Amino acid sequence: MKRFVFVFAFLLAWASAAGAQGRPIRVLILHDMEGLTGEDDWRQFSFSYPEQYAKGRMLLTDDVNATIEGLVAAGATKIDIVDGHGSGNQEPDLLLDKLDKRAQLIYRDRPFDPYIDMQEQNVYDAVALVGMHAKPGSGGFVAHTYTGGMEFWMNGLSLSEPEIIAYSWARVNVPVIYVAGDEVLWTNDLNKTMPWVEYVAVKRGTSASTAILFPLDSVRANMRVAAKRALQNLGKMKLLTITAPITAALHARPPASLAVLDSVPGINYHDNTVTFIAADFEHAYRGILALGNVSGLAGSQSTTTAALRAQPEAAQTMRMIGEFRINRWLDYESGRWKPNPPIPFEVQVAGKKYFGDR
Ligand SMILES: [Zn+2]
Repeated sequence: MKRFVFVFAFLLAWASAAGAQGRPIRVLILHDMEGLTGEDDWRQFSFSYPEQYAKGRMLLTDDVNATIEGLVAAGATKIDIVDGHGSGNQEPDLLLDKLDKRAQLIYRDRPFDPYIDMQEQNVYDAVALVGMHAKPGSGGFVAHTYTGGMEFWMNGLSLSEPEIIAYSWARVNVPVIYVAGDEVLWTNDLNKTMPWVEYVAVKRGTSASTAILFPLDSVRANMRVAAKRALQNLGKMKLLTITAPITAALHARPPASLAVLDSVPGINYHDNTVTFIAADFEHAYRGILALGNVSGLAGSQSTTTAALRAQPEAAQTMRMIGEFRINRWLDYESGRWKPNPPIPFEVQVAGKKYFGDR
């Protein structure tokens, strides 16, 4: 009797966990925030602007929910969500109390990069992308890749974020099947590199700071239909694979700059671009990000200085900063000041929850 109950319970669990095709279908939704329906103001994805950001969170949640509905209609049995945005909010951008209960945000107790640290065999069957934007130089709304000022090159192609994500998931044979975002991302890029995906254009970027918005209701209806069709056609989806070794490069766009690396031994620098050969996708990706830290520092220093110079008290402030810098050197050399020791990693992460980019 006991055994019978066990078998019966197992069958029940199996039946409810199985999708329309008779097997579990597990989907990961990765969301960004620059390519949302109804959004045409950069403050709507920036945590430092509470009023506008509140609207962005609602738009995000509605876009994600419409996508979930379509995936469920096609038989998805498990839908996880990861934050690929990083608004600066220590809490998720998604409004969890309004999120469709058939999906859940994933949490880890260590920081992770959803682009490169999540790709494991046999965890997901498909990836769906929400809130996507076009790459730098495309004319799309808030056009960028990873962060402002970076052109992310691999094997001669400047990549958009969906392409980076698709390359990364292809390492474990999982296709990107659905993308929702700026129309420019599709017409400029994905219709050539990933023509198999179900694409939902949510607005048309007309410059980096302007967009023509499409009606909310019809976009969300398109999302439901496209997400459903994408999963129903899972078998026809393709992987975006890359040939290794990879010729990788970061090209810095102003105000970011790589000029500081000109003439550094061992660095292949030319025209604000550093090029290197990487054995595989992960090394290419991490190398480009490391270079992005350099180019971003140069950009933030030059813009901070320019912003200070525009202030009425500029001369006094610049003098104060100059004195502070000189005193730092003198204090260190005189033994009056030491940099703080780095906080151990285990202390930094203790008690925190990580849900993707922050
Ligand atoms: Zn992005």
